[in-house]
Order: sequence, then structure tokens, then C-alpha cells
Amino acid sequence: MKAAVWHGYKDVRIEETERPRASPGHVVVAVRYAGICGTDRHEYVGPNFIPVEKPHRLTGKTAPLIIGHEFSGVIDEVGENISGWKTGDRVTANGTLSCGKCEACRNGRYNVCENLGFLGVNLDGAFAEYVEVEAARLFRIPDGVPLRDAVLAEPLACGIHAEKLLGGVRGQDVVVVGPGIIGVGAFFAARQADARRLLVIGVGRERQALVENGGGSYFDLSDGDPVKAVTEWSEGRLADVVYECVGSQTALDGCISMLKPRGKLMVMGVFEKSPALRMNDFQEGERQLFTSQAHTDEIAEALARIESGQIDAKSLITREVTLDTLVSDGFEELLANGEKHLKILIRVRGKED
Ligand SMILES: [Zn+2]
Ligand SMILES: [Zn+2]
Repeated sequence: MKAAVWHGYKDVRIEETERPRASPGHVVVAVRYAGICGTDRHEYVGPNFIPVEKPHRLTGKTAPLIIGHEFSGVIDEVGENISGWKTGDRVTANGTLSCGKCEACRNGRYNVCENLGFLGVNLDGAFAEYVEVEAARLFRIPDGVPLRDAVLAEPLACGIHAEKLLGGVRGQDVVVVGPGIIGVGAFFAARQADARRLLVIGVGRERQALVENGGGSYFDLSDGDPVKAVTEWSEGRLADVVYECVGSQTALDGCISMLKPRGKLMVMGVFEKSPALRMNDFQEGERQLFTSQAHTDEIAEALARIESGQIDAKSLITREVTLDTLVSDGFEELLANGEKHLKILIRVRGKED
């Protein structure tokens, strides 16, 4: 089968590899569409999470391996000891790999497993014609949701998960810093959870229409000081909740300054360099720090929101490539024009739909 195999930084090769077979408790999915995630981009440019020398603690794998974890497709093979799934079922999956034994796993919080891994990072992933997935991580795609749109459910689930961790945002003033797909997902989730007012802060105006059509306000960083903008927007009260969806020291510092006393900071950005935290700024106002890691079962909710039309998944797809053009038109395009894109899809097989 054809697959995108990670060998090293900027070294993703489209190769012929062996088709996986379904081991007990697993299925093999014929991948129809896949999505390039921020994680995949990180793997492409480094620093990588893909193990190179030391085998991963859970999977025992090292590079080279097939990247990608966001996908949709049709079950092609069902392994032993599985009920409820059959060939032909339309599915997507949570790419989290977990041990099933640690305390977090036993409590259903497999996204924070002590031995956590990810499909496409620690095990062969979904940028391929076939991918093997644990049946317990599958989600059925509703009939009303095209396979193309269903790929968006995975990144959108991150926002739903984070909103739950915050204990809700109803009636609150919410700021989202960094409107990539994770920030946009956080924005949608906060809107659907009845936030009072929403302000999204980003670079450039690519997301302005999306945010304003979704009932939020938008501030372009090139227009001045974002903390001043939040102060004016909130009539001096500052924000109840701020989502950091960038992963930089500057963004983090700005986010803290936007929070009112007792306000909540939700960190969703992935930091390439470990930031310094102004702890006194938290303590003085009893501000609270939250973090969120992927999701557990929220893909089902994301699919339901796409089906009901609450989220227009199509509008989030900014480009479509194939496995053959993944590097030149996908990864390289993200490096050159990243701010233009929300989600680049890979059409792995079949015609457009
Ligand atoms: Zn993802
Ligand atoms: Zn575990």
C-alpha cells in the first residue's frame, strides 16, 4: 500500500509499505481522507516526538513510521474479539494509544495515560491507504456527515474537551488567542456552551469572517496591543476565560494579562520551547491555570455538531492534497503560508465527495 513514512526532519517519503492486518481487538480501516494536524507539522520541522533511538514505552516503535492520526474511512477488516463493528462501517477514531492498566486508563481518562502514545507518532498512522486501529477508539460517522467533513471531528473534539475541563463557560467573557484549528474549535465549543461574549485574537484577517459569522469579535494583532483591546472589549473588567492556542512565551504572557482575578487560563498550545510562568500573577488574583490534552470521547459530540449544522466543517477545509502531493503542497505550504490554513486534507483514495 502507499503511505507517507517519516524518516527524519523534512524527510517524509511516499513509499510502498506492507498493508496492516487486524490483530485481536483491532480493525483495519481503508482510509478515505486524512487531515494534517499541528502535530504532524511539528514532526515535519522538529523538534519531533517520534522516537528515533529509544523505542516508545508503550508501542516499542522507532522511526521510520507512517505519520498521521486524523482520518475517516471504511472498515476493511475486523480482528478477533470485536463486537459491534463490521466491514463497510464508516468510521473515524481517536488516535490516542493507552495502556489500559494505569489509574488514568482505569478511570476512563486514557488521554492522560501514564504510558501515553499517539497513532502516527508512536505507531504506524493514517497517512496511508490502510491503518490499523483499536476498535475501542472507533467512532461511527453519522449517515448525514460526509467522510470528508468527518475528518474535522478529531481536532474539534479538543475544544469540546477543554471546555468541559473548565467546568463550563456559560455567561462568561471568553478570549481565544491563536485561531488555528484548535483555537477555532475552542471558539465553537465556547459559543455552543453559551459563553456571554467571545473575542478571538490572531495575526491577519483570514479568520475574521468566520469568527464574526459565529457571533464573536475579532482583533488583528497588527492593529495594536491585544491586552488593551481586551480591556476595551470587556469595559475594563478583563476576561473570565482565556484560551492560549499558540504555544509561545509572548502569547502566554499576553493571555495572563487579559485575565481578571479568579479568571481561568486554558493552555492548549504546544510549546516548542518551555515557557517561563509568571506565577505571582496567578497567585495575586487567584487566577487558575488549566491544561488540556487531546480528548477522550468528544469526537462523538463533534460529529453530532457537524451533522446538526452547528459547525460547518466544510468551511474549515482550506486545501486538499493527495498522498503524492502531501509534502510539496501540504507540509511545505504550511511552512510557507501557515496562517492561511485551518485544515489541509489529504484525499487518500476515491473521488471527491
Ligand atoms: Zn490532530
Ligand atoms: Zn494507561
